[in-house]
Amino acid sequence: MSRWADEVDFVIVGTGAGGATAARVLSEAGFSLALVEEGAFLKPEDRPRELVDAMAMAVRGMATLATDSLVPMPLLQGKCVGGSTAINSGIIWRTPDDVREDWTRNWGLASLVGEALDDAFVHIEDELSVGPTEAPIAGGNNLLMERASKALGLPGQVIHRNARGCEGNGRCLQGCPIGARQSMEVSYVPRAIASGARLYAGCHVERVILERGRAIGVRGTQHDALGKKTIEIRARRGVIVAASAIFSPLLLARSGVRHANLGERFQAHPGAAIVGRFDEDVSMGFGASQGYEVPMRDRGFKLEALALPPDMLAARLPGAGRDWQTRVGELGRYAQWGGVVRMEALGRVRSGFFDGVSVRYEPTEGDLDKVRDALLHVGRMMFAVGANEIYPGLACMPEIVKSEEEYVRAMPARLRRADVHLVSSHLFGTACASSDARGVVDERFAVRGTEGLFVMDASVFPTNLGVNPQHSIMGLVWVASKALAARESERRAA
Ligand SMILES: Cc1cc2nc3c(=O)[nH]c(=O)nc-3n(C[C@H](O)[C@H](O)[C@H](O)COP(=O)(O)OP(=O)(O)OC[C@H]3O[C@@H](n4cnc5c(N)ncnc54)[C@H](O)[C@@H]3O)c2cc1C
Repeated sequence: MSRWADEVDFVIVGTGAGGATAARVLSEAGFSLALVEEGAFLKPEDRPRELVDAMAMAVRGMATLATDSLVPMPLLQGKCVGGSTAINSGIIWRTPDDVREDWTRNWGLASLVGEALDDAFVHIEDELSVGPTEAPIAGGNNLLMERASKALGLPGQVIHRNARGCEGNGRCLQGCPIGARQSMEVSYVPRAIASGARLYAGCHVERVILERGRAIGVRGTQHDALGKKTIEIRARRGVIVAASAIFSPLLLARSGVRHANLGERFQAHPGAAIVGRFDEDVSMGFGASQGYEVPMRDRGFKLEALALPPDMLAARLPGAGRDWQTRVGELGRYAQWGGVVRMEALGRVRSGFFDGVSVRYEPTEGDLDKVRDALLHVGRMMFAVGANEIYPGLACMPEIVKSEEEYVRAMPARLRRADVHLVSSHLFGTACASSDARGVVDERFAVRGTEGLFVMDASVFPTNLGVNPQHSIMGLVWVASKALAARESERRAA
């Protein structure tokens, strides 16, 4: 009996932005695929309304994964078919020109970020129905931010998302209940399956099997109704690791890959948010979860509207007893907007005790200055459109602030790390790409020192972006997997 449970051209580990896009391209180029995903395959109708239930089903460690520091920073990641795209807000941004120039000049990645990337963006935007958030489903939280941006003369704009037939349920983070957001589990994964790819959900890949430096398959543990079993899947042409910026470097290291930058150069876009109370009805529960933004690239941050589900909004309100109950009774009057910062800090990912991982990462003083600047802007915007109180969520400030003057006065000249509650869901850089030896992978995303082994996810970014990353991940993987398909088609024909 064969040791292999299955045998295909390519095995792809992870079904998020990177893995699913590679599957879309390679399956339609005629290659057989096995998609191996640790999380479950959840259908839109399986998605619960309550956030805690949704997190238990689809978020890694129930959102308790965090950096290993004195002040831990939660790191949000999806653990389900579709990866983090299955719990994200669907925000779409093309890779900024300055990032493309930097990656060309300083990292030798011209072949990835040139015209081929524009072409990839056009295809992906068409296939995933990318467009501006439409007025009927804008919702009060987004519309109020638009008014505030205009009142202060800021460069705000409606957010572009990959949504088809969005009804404004405000439940992106729990998983779209009607499958409108074109995340990978409703778009590229089913599309690859329709082209013959086989999906192994609930299967944790322990290691890539390397034989004399060549990747020949993967070994994983699959959980099903009968318990757990070890399976091995053979890859005739290659293994593509797309397990995220945290789990790809760990999987490579467990498999025997060694490189000075493996697990290093971890980067992020951490953010923090402010809740404000208004006299008017905001009704945060209706509308696109994130439909309006104010990009301030020159200052190193981006402001975004972010609707919270009622259970989480209630937990974010200040006070106790009757005071808190009064506020909860007015849930329709609150808005939440936040700032997401392009940080310069570099961290590292290693194996550890919690979920097998330890992430070291400390924002620099300059990073915290940008957080302060972003939060000052958000507070001012809220008061500009009539907030009667705001809850800055900063340890160095009163819990409730009632005027712009009080807010500006109370803001310290510098924030300390312990003052601010940062969260990050945009994670990069731990198997960085470069045409020279700094790259764990080269400009084909091939792992140096091996054959037939590739990384195709956010790990390959040499730097962070300053904008929401899923489109850049999909675009780059599209370009790299098209090139891989072309090389392998030539080999097949020869
Ligand atoms: C709450 C949230 C909101 C966000 N909002 C946006 C947004 O609006 N716009 C935007 O551009 N970006 C957004 N992002 C970020 C974006 O979703 C991610 O950057 C992107 O999905 C990362 O793609 P990836 O392929 O690197 O990893 P992921 O999409 O995280 O996929 C990795 C997959 O690999 C699986 N995996 C890991 N280890 C193994 C293993 N050993 N075996 C098998 N499978 C494994 C994981 O379970 C996961 O499904 C958001 C992220 C989160 C968490």
